[in-house]
Parts: sequence; structure tokens; C-alpha cells
Amino acid sequence: MVEMKYVPTICPYCGTGCGLNLVVVDEKVVGVEPWKRHPVNEGKLCPKGMFSHEFIHREDRLTKPLIKQPNGEFKEASWEEATDLVAKKLGEIKSENPDNIGFLACARSPNENIYITQKFARKVIGTHNVDHCARICHGPTVAGLARTFGSGAMTNDFKSIEEADVVFIIGSNNMEAHPLFGRRVIRAKKNGAKIIVADPRFTPTAKLADIYMEFRSGGDVALLNAMMKIIIDEGLQDDDFIKNRTKNYQRLKEIVSKYDLKKAAEIAEVNVEKLVEATMLYAKADKAAIVYSLGITEHRHGADNVMSTANLAMLTGNIGRNGTGVNPLRGQNNVQGACDMGALPTDYPGYQKVVDVDATRLIEQNWTCTLNDCAPGLTVVEMIHAAAAGDIKAMYITGEDPVLSDPDTNHVIEAMENLDFLVVQDIFMSETGKYADVVLPAAGWGEQEGTFTNGERRVQLVRKAVNPPGEAKVDWEIMKEIAVKMGADPKQFTYNNAEEIFDEMREITPQYKGMNRERLERPEALHWPCPDENHPGTGLMHVNTFAHPDGMGVFEPAEYIGPSELPDDNYPLILTTTRTLFHYHASMTRRCKTLDNELPTGYVEIHTNDAKKLGILNRELVKVKSRRGEIEIPARVTDDIKEGEINIPMHFAECAANMLTTSKELDPKSKMAELKVCAAVVEKME
Ligand code: SF4
Repeated sequence: MVEMKYVPTICPYCGTGCGLNLVVVDEKVVGVEPWKRHPVNEGKLCPKGMFSHEFIHREDRLTKPLIKQPNGEFKEASWEEATDLVAKKLGEIKSENPDNIGFLACARSPNENIYITQKFARKVIGTHNVDHCARICHGPTVAGLARTFGSGAMTNDFKSIEEADVVFIIGSNNMEAHPLFGRRVIRAKKNGAKIIVADPRFTPTAKLADIYMEFRSGGDVALLNAMMKIIIDEGLQDDDFIKNRTKNYQRLKEIVSKYDLKKAAEIAEVNVEKLVEATMLYAKADKAAIVYSLGITEHRHGADNVMSTANLAMLTGNIGRNGTGVNPLRGQNNVQGACDMGALPTDYPGYQKVVDVDATRLIEQNWTCTLNDCAPGLTVVEMIHAAAAGDIKAMYITGEDPVLSDPDTNHVIEAMENLDFLVVQDIFMSETGKYADVVLPAAGWGEQEGTFTNGERRVQLVRKAVNPPGEAKVDWEIMKEIAVKMGADPKQFTYNNAEEIFDEMREITPQYKGMNRERLERPEALHWPCPDENHPGTGLMHVNTFAHPDGMGVFEPAEYIGPSELPDDNYPLILTTTRTLFHYHASMTRRCKTLDNELPTGYVEIHTNDAKKLGILNRELVKVKSRRGEIEIPARVTDDIKEGEINIPMHFAECAANMLTTSKELDPKSKMAELKVCAAVVEKME
């Protein structure tokens, strides 16, 4: 008899965190059914979610551990052999200096795996060198909103956007990258809201706008400061809010007073009439919400951009009410959770600082160990630089693919090749896995229990539908085995299931303290902060006070510093990178047949006038070069991008955008690399 079941879980792609049911027939996932009662997506899914099951049973899943042989070929090995080797090599390198080892956690993985990864790094190895892809995604959100609001997360829940009178979207193409959030924007518009979009591309999101402001990539601070100057000049600031709830207003006034319309037009190349019109609309609204994503964060001034959005919201009193707020749309399904779990070189779980002696003592008590409490560890890009320089000797990478997704691919490859020992734990052989000494097969989505935390801080259960293929194991089980082989107290790694890990985690994570499995079983789940088991969770933050100890919000004005690399005679165009409707990074969606059919390879978007000057036709194969590398890629000639700029989606290894991007200069406040702007040239091929 055929056995069929529906397993409710959460989409493995973007940070919207839609609910869906995996349809399982005879132990195989055969389809996806939207989850009708789910509060995030209410029975709707975007194409990525709808076909998300297609990668689960792929034949190229990793099913056995692999050890690289002296001839450079991988050979299958037993778990015993592979974990012995990993424990031995990590032990040797640790004995020289624990900080010679770096860890990348996986933001697509459940919280429980991420918690164990950072515990393994800190407790078993003794290093704070643990980070993950948020660094080059929403690292500036964590840094920028923590400085201004005291908490580095979305201020409102998704639904709240429907109550806005004005939605100001800057650097977010949510109709493609976060479509089920985009649906809320459409609802807001139907409810009467005016939509403002600022973006160098006339994206599907921009096409919905009442006011579209084209501007130059990297000009964000100049544009936002000019908006604030107009507001102050016109007396439209919220004086009561500023007086009662904020600090440092005079400094903000001083800084933004320098950004007049002429300066905004020069730097950001924005149409000033539209800028004034948009500013008046935002400032005069009773409830105005700001929405942003990687267009704001992926710059060497990403934290300044984020803080400028926060300044604008506080200046107009648009915080602490439904329909207002600063709403960063998080990238990966669990990137919010990965930050919350302490996969950060500066923070333990719950954003407790590693330099805070009291926080360190609390964690030591819970983990029964002594921790290195001296200084924060290295961030993702710093680890790559250190590996290239020979200062990091081993890396343990779970579910991330820096060769594809980090800036300056050739430099990342150089770093991977320079390591004495590289462990990659993943569900497929990744671009990075090819450089590994040991590859460990991990259980994927649908094959394990746990929790994801979406972009609105909603902590949701993910459930197991089928067993992992072959000998693949859940991340925390693999790390538990290696920890014990490396001499860790087995009593500290005795977990039998994900729930036990969650319970340990919430003991030391104030924002999650009131959550437990039973409470999370409801489709609504719980938003953090949820400090005790009677607390209903917090959809709307900063209602009466901000999260700083004194309860006040802090204006953090920023001067425009601009991109690290601007066009010149040799590289006359600005290259920016983006995501598409049909792909989420690469390893999973490119293995979903339906999605890959829709968009099987990459392209470079180039403005019609720029293409004409170069004699380039639509779909023609062209060469794109930067100071770091070159790729061959089909051209997509369009009017939907600013003249002088080009755009390449980042998903495609065969024409990888990151061959061209730069990691030379990092944001000093968040260590973000400049993924959204570099100088490039497009050449017609013979
Ligand atoms: Fe999945 Fe995001 Fe699409 Fe929802 S919007 S179905 S979470 S990819």
C-alpha cells in the first residue's frame, strides 16, 4: 500500500520564512503543498518555494565521507576514518595556536546546528574565529541597527507593512528576492499606501512604485542625508519623538546640513524634483515604513547606510508603531538565526559580547569550560585574507561556498589552496568542496528537525520528512563525534535530539528564553524577544523604549565616503550584483530542474545606450573584466538599468560575478566587503 504524508515545515530559501508542506510518498518527497494557515505566506509560495523539493533526492547528493588522496582525487572513506583524520589534524593545528583555525557556520541550517558549530569553535578549539555569510549580507544591519536602536534586527513584523501610508524601499528588489514579502507591499498599495523605490535598476519592485528614484550605486548616504536635510529645513521632523526618545540630534543636524540638493544630485546622480517629492511624501505620512536589503548593506559603508535609514525613521518618529519602522529583509532562510546563535566572532548567542567578562563567565558556567575571552575573532573576509597570508591554517566550512559567493573568487581560491587542512561539510560537492582535504556528507533540509528564525524574528519549527541519503548525518551529530574524539567532555555533547540543543541554547540566550517546542508547534510560532514562558513574543519592537540600556535611540549621522573603486578610462562601468526570482544562491536552486529550466545561466544587464556604443546586441556573448578577473557571459540589453552601470546575478559558477568583485576594502564598522560596486569593462568578443 502506498504511504503518503504531509510534513509541515519552512521554505529553505529566503528570510521570509514561508510555511509549506512536503508531500512524502513511500519515503520520497514528491512535491510541495503551500501551508494554507501559515501566517507568513497564507497558502501562497513563490517559484523557489514551490519547487524547493526538487534537489532533495538528487543523485549527486554527497552520501559518504570523502578524503583527498595525494594524487588530488577524492576517495570514499568510513565515518571512523574521516572523523579520526579531522580530529587529528584540527588537534595538531590547535596545539600550535587555536586561532589558526577558522569556522564558517551555515545560515541555511537549523539554529541547533549553528549553535553547535560556534560551541565547537569556542569550547573545543578555543577560538572566536567563527562567522557566516551574514557578514557579507546583513552584517551592516546587525552593526548599524545595534548602534542606533540597540538591537540589530527588523523593527516590525511583515504584516505590519500593510498598515503603512508610505513604504520607502531602498536597495531591495523584494518582488524577486522576497516575493511573499513583496505580496505585503502590493497589499499595502491596495490599501492606499504610496510606494517609493530608490534603486539603480528599474526592477519589478520599482515598477510598482508611485515614485521611482534612479540613483548611482553607492550614493545611498548622500541621498538619505539630503532627505533628512529637506525634512529639517521644512520643519517636518518629529520634535516630540526626538526630544523624548533619542540622543545626538544636534550632531545629525550638523552633518546632514552639508547635503543640499546640488550635492545629492552630484554624488547620487538622483533627480532632485523626485527626491523632494519622495521626501515630502515620506515625511508627511502618519505611518511610513522603510524597507531595505542588500542594496543598502553590501558596501564598504554598509553600516553607515543602515544607520542613515535608522536616522531617517527616528527623525520623523516612524518607529514603534505598525506600518512604520526600519525593515531589513534578511537573505537566507536562517541568517537571522545564525546571528542570534552567536555564529559571529564578536558575539556569543543572544548578541552577548565576547569581550564582556560577565557574558563569558555565564557561558563558561553553562558549558563547564574556560573560554578565550580576550578579543573577538576574525570575520569571513578576514579569515580568507588570513588564509591567503598563511595566518589561518585550517578551516571548517559547513554549508557555505565562499569560492562562489564571496568577493574576488581568485583570491578565495588562493586562500583555500594555501590552507594546511580544509574540512567542508555539505549536501553537494560545492565549488569550495573541490579544495577540501575532507568532505563530510550532511543531512539537508527535510531530513532533520530544528528551528529557523526568519527575517521578522519569528522562530519556527522545521521538521524531518525523510532520512538523509546514504550515510549522510545531521551537522550537530558530526560535530558531536569530532568533539568527543578531540577530548571534549562527552557530557557536554550528549544531545539526543535538536530539542535538547534548543533547550540548552535558550538557557543562555535571553531573547529565546521563553520559547519551547510546545509553544513553537503553533503555526504562529513566536517572535523574539520572548524572555519568559508566559511572554507572547514581540512582533513590534521599540514601542516605548529602544533596546539600549537607557532606552534611548541614538542618531548616528554618517558622512558620504563612497565606493572604494570608481569607474575610470580602463574600467568605465560600475558593476553591481543581484539575485533573481528563480534562484537562491546556487547549490540548491540550480539543482531544481524546474527553476534551472526557467533561468539556466547568467547574464550581464547593460543599458541600451551603453550597448549601442559598444556595438553589443541582446544575447550576444561578451567579456566582462575587472581588475581581479574576467568572465564570458551573454548580454541582456535593457533600459531597466542606469546608464553607466551593469548588473550580473551571482548564482552562476560558469560566469561568476564574484570573479570580478573586490574584497580589498571592508566596512570598518561591520567588515562588509564591497559586493555592490566595482569598476568593470564590457568588451565585444571577436
Ligand atoms: Fe521561500 Fe522566500 Fe519564496 Fe517564501 S518568498 S516561498 S520563503 S523563497
